[in-house]
Amino acid sequence: MAIQIYNSLTKKKEEFIPQTGKNVKMYCCGVTVYDKCHIGHARSLYIFDMIKRYLNLRGFNVYFVRNITDVDDKIINKAKELKSSSEEVAQRNIDGYYNDLKLLEVDKADCEPRATENIEAMVEYIKELIGKGYAYEVSGNVYYEVKKFKEYGKLSGQSIEHMLDAVRIETDINKKDPLDFALWKKSSDEDPGWNSPWGRGRPGWHIECSCMSMKHLNTQTLDIHAGGRDLIFPHHENEVAQSEALSGKPFARYWIHLGLLTIRAQKMAKSLGNFITVEDAVGKYSANVLKMFYISSHYASPIDFSEEKMADARKALGRFEVLILKAEELLKEKNVDPCEVEFVNNFKEKFFESMDDDFNSAKALGYLFEWTNETNKFFDRNKDDSDYYAIIASSVNQLKELFKNVFMITFAPGKEELTEEEQSLLKQRQEARLNKDYKKSDELRDLLKNKNIIVEDSKAGQTWRRL
Ligand SMILES: [Zn+2]
Repeated sequence: MAIQIYNSLTKKKEEFIPQTGKNVKMYCCGVTVYDKCHIGHARSLYIFDMIKRYLNLRGFNVYFVRNITDVDDKIINKAKELKSSSEEVAQRNIDGYYNDLKLLEVDKADCEPRATENIEAMVEYIKELIGKGYAYEVSGNVYYEVKKFKEYGKLSGQSIEHMLDAVRIETDINKKDPLDFALWKKSSDEDPGWNSPWGRGRPGWHIECSCMSMKHLNTQTLDIHAGGRDLIFPHHENEVAQSEALSGKPFARYWIHLGLLTIRAQKMAKSLGNFITVEDAVGKYSANVLKMFYISSHYASPIDFSEEKMADARKALGRFEVLILKAEELLKEKNVDPCEVEFVNNFKEKFFESMDDDFNSAKALGYLFEWTNETNKFFDRNKDDSDYYAIIASSVNQLKELFKNVFMITFAPGKEELTEEEQSLLKQRQEARLNKDYKKSDELRDLLKNKNIIVEDSKAGQTWRRL
């Protein structure tokens, strides 16, 4: 089946056909490095990496560019607040961003250009827009003249009145029209600035993305442009206006937008005291639990973060962990040849069908649960059946492969994490069970539970996992 993607530009699901064969040029708006990354950023970093991986797994060859906005008013303001320099603020948060990627176990994009390393290209780009009559200069600032671009609003699908409402708060007397936006901003002596034909200044945010995406993907038409839903207007609308005015070609074939993340139905904001950094979230819940939380919803849906949701994600992950640990115990020191398993093939087919349908991870995950249940049933079958071990091994291995290759979730047994005392308690419990001393084994199970270790029994023996 062909891959279908919901395209925000055409507002419908379409078959995914890249411009050139199987090669995919994909861009995503990256972080503006004025603060630490939060769990909303983590969703974007993870989900778009997942989409890239999935496309690669389906035979495409994706080149993925995600920028870093390291010059921006937010960074300048932050530096003033901290009595620091913009460069220092940016560098500290870039280091934090790369550390977050490591914590999350999410890959870097193939290319992560920084705005400050592409200023020259942006100046050239703006010069061309002025040359083509789409931009004008007023005392060291350059603006894009929105009314010159007849298709303005086609991505966000908003009326001019609506768009005006959204930008009305910002008043700039230099603009010919309130909808016009800055391509180049004049910098004061203390602010970061670069020389340009219009004097010392810095680029606007929108031009950064148009320029870096085209330059680093080496094309005027991207196959996929990705980003958060909150960026559609004005950011992405402005990217379209700039890029298409310059090239006369469609800027991106498919626009993929991620749903927003709220915290207990509120927007995440430092002022509301509900800002959760990637570092804190991974420390508290683990990267795997966060990933499980993200894939439990379709990428385009809004998701609401809460302790209950994280407990659900932990529990969901536990169902897979228990199966995998059970299988590892059972298959220890056994050489089993993989075999074809009908129910595994069926679930795999359904998994791929769901993912092909606009990367519906929530639906795909549902099939992985069913697959797990089906495999669990096998444990209770007669071990003397000739295919007993082979079926369990093949099923569990393929399940693990999908988790790793598509969702970047790896299941480590983690036995080395046990303290000596915990190891001894687990051993005592196993012995008690073997001796049919159920009273003692139950007591030991409760004792381990108090230490956040859950013990479960099956025909394959005793398994444990951390809560
Ligand atoms: Zn962008």
